[in-house]
Amino acid sequence: MTLKFDYDLFVIGAGSGGVRAARMAASKGKKVAVAEERYLGGTCVNVGCVPKKLFVYASQFPELFHASKGYGWSIPGQPSLDWATLRDNKTTEIERLNAIYNNLIDNSGAELFSARATVVGPHQVAVEDKVYSAKVILIATGGWPYIPEFPGSELAISSNEMFFLDQLPKTAVVVGGGYIAVEFAGILNGLGVETHLVYRGPELLKSFDREMSGKIVEGMSNKGVHIHLNTQINEIVKVAGRDRELSVVLDNGGNLTAGLALYATGRQANTAGLGLENTAVVMGNNGSIVVDNHFATAEPSIYALGDVIDRVQLTPVAIQEAMVLVDHLYGDGQAQIDYSDIPTAVFCQPEFGTVGLSEEQARAEYADIAVYLSDFKPMLQTLGGGAERITMKLVVDNESDRVLGCHMVGEHAAEIIQGLGIALKAGATKAHFDATVGIHPSAAEEFVTMRERAR
Ligand code: NDP
Repeated sequence: MTLKFDYDLFVIGAGSGGVRAARMAASKGKKVAVAEERYLGGTCVNVGCVPKKLFVYASQFPELFHASKGYGWSIPGQPSLDWATLRDNKTTEIERLNAIYNNLIDNSGAELFSARATVVGPHQVAVEDKVYSAKVILIATGGWPYIPEFPGSELAISSNEMFFLDQLPKTAVVVGGGYIAVEFAGILNGLGVETHLVYRGPELLKSFDREMSGKIVEGMSNKGVHIHLNTQINEIVKVAGRDRELSVVLDNGGNLTAGLALYATGRQANTAGLGLENTAVVMGNNGSIVVDNHFATAEPSIYALGDVIDRVQLTPVAIQEAMVLVDHLYGDGQAQIDYSDIPTAVFCQPEFGTVGLSEEQARAEYADIAVYLSDFKPMLQTLGGGAERITMKLVVDNESDRVLGCHMVGEHAAEIIQGLGIALKAGATKAHFDATVGIHPSAAEEFVTMRERAR
């Protein structure tokens, strides 16, 4: 007897990974459903990468206005920001993208449920008051910001709310030392908000190359962000008689008064209330779903990918995971995901792009490495007069001559590092870099003209 299911694949969560899996499976003739309770496109499109990048652009204009003077421009009056225009234009753009996602799902032939779905059995999903059966269920529910509990923590906001503020504060405190904290500290500072970044550890972006992280701290400080390292927050209280003012009490006896306290203290897998207790799915201590190399959970009919499995919380990784999974389920099963040498960028200011091993990781893994460094003033600033610099670094294995890591702090780092990611994937050696002709005049050419070893 063959079992009949309502769907071949039921995807819960229409973020980057879920939508890609649904579309790919539908294109292979599978009967697919997608359920999304909140917004199409998930975190990236709605409260992550996309609106964040738009805000980063917005926050860069003051420096460009300043630089334009050296190029002969004069701007009558003092440029000023209308926050509501920025916020609402951003929302309009996101709504346009939501509609595109809707069309992508529709055109693929997958069926969309705009409602919360819960798992009620290994092959059963409940949506509103109906239960549907599916041969395979894919959990792609992403993550959600985590704010630790402490006195006054209910007064803190997460990155989700940052995109919809009714007004910009004069002063802000941003807490955390990861991607989101440094990115929002840069955005707020650039938009004219006096910004304090409070981090409990000694170094920001601690999983990256230490020297580059030092350059980021230096660059952010030069741009005006007040960085408080080795500092924790004891409590947040409302300032009496001042509607929007908070007093952020630090563990060093200090105190910051701010109109906003943003906690960017990590994200947790979105698994609460999903009904996974009705299945054999196993979750880790942090609530993320445990999967094997094929994204299979401990329940044979249930798979999971993207931020909810807490491997690498990056949109392009979730998309690759989705393609590998669909190939595993409905293709020839040859596709694989390689988590090494994933290029990534932090859109802090100065921007940071990186691929491969940090100097510290390379020293731990290889006996003999060489480090090449370049630090210079970007050409824009020669007439522009700004203090910003660019730092580039190559980490090379001396034995094989292979380039192990490329790191850059400064303008266009993300755009430049993307291409170098291909070089590293292809196993490029330092000799290949040296044999490559530079594009002149560009900042990127420095990556192929570094001849002197710094270490
Ligand atoms: P991260 O995990 O990168 O950083 C969390 C930060 O919060 C760490 O500095 C951590 O400190 C700190 N922290 C955690 N708990 C506490 C606490 N109780 N009190 C004080 N500080 C605390 O998370 P993010 O939220 O910044 O970002 C989540 C993920 O989203 C990133 O890892 C990244 O994968 C992705 N992302 C990617 C972006 C991009 O591609 N540009 C942009 C934004 C996000 P400690 O280090 O001491 O533990």
